[in-house]
Amino acid sequence: MIDSPIAREFLETGRCASCGVIDLHAHYGHFRGIYMPNHGPQQMIATMDRCGVDLMVSSGHTALADMVRGNAEMAAVTAQYPGRWYAYLTYDPHLRELGRRELELYDTRPTFAGIKLHPTFHQTPITADAYRPVLEFAAARSLLLLTHTWGGSAFDSPAHIAQVAERYPSITLLCGHSGHGQFAECMDVARRFSNVYLELTAAYAVRGVIEDMVERVGAHKVVLGYDLPWFDPHYAIGCVVMAHISDEARRLILRENALRLLQGRLRVP
Ligand SMILES: [Zn+2]
Repeated sequence: MIDSPIAREFLETGRCASCGVIDLHAHYGHFRGIYMPNHGPQQMIATMDRCGVDLMVSSGHTALADMVRGNAEMAAVTAQYPGRWYAYLTYDPHLRELGRRELELYDTRPTFAGIKLHPTFHQTPITADAYRPVLEFAAARSLLLLTHTWGGSAFDSPAHIAQVAERYPSITLLCGHSGHGQFAECMDVARRFSNVYLELTAAYAVRGVIEDMVERVGAHKVVLGYDLPWFDPHYAIGCVVMAHISDEARRLILRENALRLLQGRLRVP
């Protein structure tokens, strides 16, 4: 049995009262062609309650295909759960003029806590000119920016992230999936740049990756997410809880790093 009060409490109760989880990579709503039984707002909140998750930050599925409708939907949904649920503004690099208007609306949507980019979905390298307006916007405001990253991708590989991190040091970059498949390269980028963090969605399931990240980069640079409503939080949390790391590292990954990153960035208490 692993020697950890946090692990013991999760195993016994399914939650940890002293270590409420903060989820920095969630979604919301239907996704074409996939049945996700608990994608509604109340169901997602119920899942959080069941798994001991205090707070999450989501980007809407709708916003990937229809940025204007999807961002408005996320603003409306999260407004119903102050202090519990926040949103990323999703930016579509193909729609420059609409994108400019979406960025202008950022300040009028108090539950927005950062920006979400999905260069692979939009088939556009994050280093392309099409992303410049949103990156400049994020840099000017020192925003949190979650981007999908994947190993070997022509759009969002660790090498692409390094370029963005170097060019925009004031953006706090969360590497969604930690460059899945190129974990070592992504860890190098997170070690090289103080503004780059590793986010665990899907990566947590790869044996030994969490231990490697803690050893090679440091637990202070790792945050948790699990693509809710795609994946069950208990599985993701379990991977962190049962990893061969210290309780101090578990606490940082499950909660404290995210709280530190969100500090000063949440407009709704
Ligand atoms: Zn995702």
